[in-house]
Amino acid sequence: MNAQTPTNSASLENYWMPFTANRQFKAAPRLLASAEGMNYTSIDGRTVLDGTAGLWCVNAGHGRKRITAAVEKQLSTLDFAPSFQMGHPIAFDFAEKLSQVSPGGPEAGLDRVFFTGSGSESVDTALKIALAYQRAIGQGTRTRLIGRERGYHGVGFGGISVGGIVSNRRVFPQLPGTDHLRHTHDLARNAYAKGEPEHGAELADDLERLVALHGAETIAAVIVEPVAGSTGVLIPPKGYLQRLRAICDRHGILLIFDEVITGFGRLGTPFAVDYFGVVPDLVTTAKGLTNGAIPMGAVFASRTVHDALMHGPDGQIELFHGYTYSGHPVGCAAGIATLEIYREEGLLTRGAELAGAWQDAMHSLRGLPHVIDVRTIGIIAGIELASRPDAIGKRAYDVFVDCFEKGLLIRVTGDIIAFSPPLILEQKDIERIVAVLGEALKRVA
Ligand code: PMP
Repeated sequence: MNAQTPTNSASLENYWMPFTANRQFKAAPRLLASAEGMNYTSIDGRTVLDGTAGLWCVNAGHGRKRITAAVEKQLSTLDFAPSFQMGHPIAFDFAEKLSQVSPGGPEAGLDRVFFTGSGSESVDTALKIALAYQRAIGQGTRTRLIGRERGYHGVGFGGISVGGIVSNRRVFPQLPGTDHLRHTHDLARNAYAKGEPEHGAELADDLERLVALHGAETIAAVIVEPVAGSTGVLIPPKGYLQRLRAICDRHGILLIFDEVITGFGRLGTPFAVDYFGVVPDLVTTAKGLTNGAIPMGAVFASRTVHDALMHGPDGQIELFHGYTYSGHPVGCAAGIATLEIYREEGLLTRGAELAGAWQDAMHSLRGLPHVIDVRTIGIIAGIELASRPDAIGKRAYDVFVDCFEKGLLIRVTGDIIAFSPPLILEQKDIERIVAVLGEALKRVA
């Protein structure tokens, strides 16, 4: 196949693919035709085990008939309605159902829900809510947003500004007045960590450094991924998030958890908030919200943050922000069906039952060629390979191609392999992942 060769009936010319080396891909395309349960089927009819839940989305597995039925029914009942100054019951219904599983449970009070269309939109929404909140409580000088090195918060201008990936930032200007905490990745001290690594809680004190540098009265919010995924599975050191929360409290800074990948059962708890026992002020989600079936995101806000914005004069719009597709009826239908599946099949906590077997299997890869770290938490794993000095990322990319040919979809970022399979996985799937990856590592070596 090449760019001139039709696949099915389509040429490969017109679609400009995101985050892809388009010319390289189109010279040797990898195309998926269908999916069911734990597996994709490639266009040439091969079964490919989904080691990544698509892109950390499909937590309940592929092809869920209940979601299909809900989407079909909603499309034929109310396909779309204006999202501003008009409502439709299903958006209120979905928000209420989400409030029943909200991060941290009822005591955390994170039960006010703002709907978006994606993770990037959730991030920009949360950053704007943080700024609006500070102004509403008379702290309008707090306009600075703090992110973290090696953080990924989507590709909006807000997200790339607080994000810490140079390739996302180098071509584009950023929001003024952002700054970054150091990342917590430390192979020298924490290699082969099972769960939270031992060392590095003190890195949270970086926030004190930024407070001393900029003045607390200029800082609105800090955003972190509880577990960073896109930059290669970086798990917070024990006590780090607790310490960050305490520093935020001391200085009136809001804490935002970006749970776009950790939300909806990935760590064996409904949210990372529940896993770490740290309650932020805002939580961003997307992906698993609808099992990936319909693009949608949601921001959970604390009642304190929400209520502070509800005191203006009658008729005033409290937050001048939103999307045409906020609370899209079809997304809400998919989301409600997804929540029903999660509840009935216990998927928001199933990861806790499997985490031990998952961890043992992944750590059995230690010692294979070029493996310099294995790290696991919940149903996530990162396997880091030593980079070739002349070609960073090449080794992991070769493993990715080899695995795909042998029927396993993995995700690579730099020379780190990331796993986040659907939460319906069984022991046999875990064994297959380890077997195919192990062989690929030996072959590529
Ligand atoms: N935040 C995090 C933590 C993510 O992992 C992602 C996507 N991988 C995003 C935000 C952006 O989500 P989207 O691609 O839906 O805009």
